[in-house]
Formats: sequence, structure tokens, C-alpha cells
Amino acid sequence: MTPSQVATTGFLLHPSSALHDTGPGHPEHPGRLRALADSVGREIAALGGRVVVDVPVEVDLSELRLVHTADHLAAIEAASQRARAEARLVALDPDTVVSAASLEAALGAVGAAWAAAGAVARGDRRNAFVATRPPGHHASSGRAMGFCLFNTVALTARWLQERGLAERVLVVDWDVHHGNGTQDVFWEDPSVHLLSLHQAPHWPGTGRPSEIGAGAGEGATHNVEVAAGADWTTYGPSFERALDEAFEASRPDFVLVSAGYDALAADPLGGLCLGPADFHRMTEMVLQRSSKGGESRLVAMLEGGYDPPGTGSAVAMTIRALAGVVPVDSTLPADEG
Ligand SMILES: [Zn+2]
Repeated sequence: MTPSQVATTGFLLHPSSALHDTGPGHPEHPGRLRALADSVGREIAALGGRVVVDVPVEVDLSELRLVHTADHLAAIEAASQRARAEARLVALDPDTVVSAASLEAALGAVGAAWAAAGAVARGDRRNAFVATRPPGHHASSGRAMGFCLFNTVALTARWLQERGLAERVLVVDWDVHHGNGTQDVFWEDPSVHLLSLHQAPHWPGTGRPSEIGAGAGEGATHNVEVAAGADWTTYGPSFERALDEAFEASRPDFVLVSAGYDALAADPLGGLCLGPADFHRMTEMVLQRSSKGGESRLVAMLEGGYDPPGTGSAVAMTIRALAGVVPVDSTLPADEG
């Protein structure tokens, strides 16, 4: 590993992400990643070596016991097998669909996240972005929900801890929906803090500020509600204040971002009004607070985001910030970045 490689941002996809079929008209479809790969591909070329594409690791289903119950893993495996055997989609609930390749895709998402987290923890990469599907933050230990089969961000926090690569983890969830699955997993755990900013009232209906965790985990869950229609002028100060509080409370040695892009103004599943360049600012704010002695250990992973062109632009902005490059967007004031 040369010094120039260490100063790079990792970018990870998984080929199986494209094979997870949710059926016609479903907002969480493979085209999301095609648009993203186009935007980010152009970005990687423009950033000339600052961002490199990395390879996921193989993950065995049994390794997901770090977070998930044996019953849940068996249920997802059985649904995927049934979808294959009967050549049809299997609905776990009205939103959450499993196809023949869904188990492989969901495992691939975890393998990409673990490869990214390992590379950052070892110092081989300064940070990383993982662009896979299905998303994960609504899945709890024992239940799939809201397009999510396995909770990739929770599994990554636990994997880092189990490997001795991190002790205290902060998950920053800026998806427009509450990260209810992640909250459930770490509800009584003081070693993994969750900060979720989300539209309220909105699906799934959880994430009130009064939900702060319980037992030893009391105070490790941080929920911030944002009213529909909010743009950067209200969202930005809330985000910054909440970050300060969550970093102060958690003092993390590793930061994971549940990076959803459904808070963009054009998103069909959200009612907030952020623009792509706002995600550059948010990423910078998280990076600044993650930095210890000039080093920050951060992996961001894709959650929601259902306007594919907007998601592609905003992910490109996130990656620019991760790579330490100023945004190229006329909507951002000249004194920023
Ligand atoms: Zn969402």
C-alpha cells in the first residue's frame, strides 16, 4: 500500500445488487443503482485516483447471527428459495419483496460494507462509500421491513466490534425515514449510538425524540424530527446541532452513515426539500467531527433514495466530500467547501 493509496476513498458496488427484483412499479428497483453508477463513474474518472473501486468480501449467511435471529435468516433463505422454485416474487409484507436472487444481493450488500469497513479500519482507505441494495436500516433482528432484509449498517457495527476494530460506533442516519431497525438492534446497547434525522410525521411512525434507548443504552439513541417541507435553512442547523450532541455523547472511534437520499426535494417517498449539494455539506460536517488527529474512520452506505438522477448527483456530492474535493455546484455559496 503506497501513501497515495492510503489517501483514497473506497467505492464499492456488488454485482448481485442488480439482480434483486422487486417487481414492476416498485420504487426500490435496480435502475436506482444504474443511475448512481453513471454519476459516480463520471465522478471517479474526474477525481483522478482519489476514489478507487474496491472488491466486496464473501459473507456466509451464518455470520449474520451477529445481529439477526436464526429464525429470521432461515425465513429470508426460505423465501428466496421459494421465489426461485416457483419463479415468482414472494412478498414478506406489502412493501418488502424477495426474488430468487435477493438472498445473494442482501448478502452481497453486507460483504461490500464489511470490505469497506475493514479497509478503513486497517488504514488502507481514508473512508468509503458502499452503493448496494436492498437497503437495511428498517430491518430488525427478527424482521424484514420497508424494503430491507438484513440490517447492513447494524451488522457492520457489530462486525467491527467483534473483530476488535472498533469499540464505540456512531451511526448517523440521514435517510428521510426513521432508522427503526437500527434503533431496535441497539436499544439497550451503550456502545453503538444512533442519530436519526427523519421527516415526522411520516412512515414508519417511530423515532420520537422521547425514544432514547433503555437500560444501559439509555441516552444512546438520538432522534430528531424534521417537518415536511424543510429545506437546508431549517434542516442544516438541526443536523449540525444534533451531530454535535451525538458525537459528544458517543465519542465514537468509528462512524457509519446510513446514507439515504430520499430527503431530496424530488424524491417520491419523502417530503423534505434538500438539494444534492446539501449532502456535500452534511458529509463534511460528519467528517470534521469524526476526525481524530487528522484521521477519521467513516463508511457511508446507501439506504433509500427513489429519484434515481437526484440520488446519483447527491451520492456524487457525498463522494466528493469524502475525497476532500470541493463541490462543483452553482447552488453552493462560494465561501463553502
Ligand atoms: Zn428512506
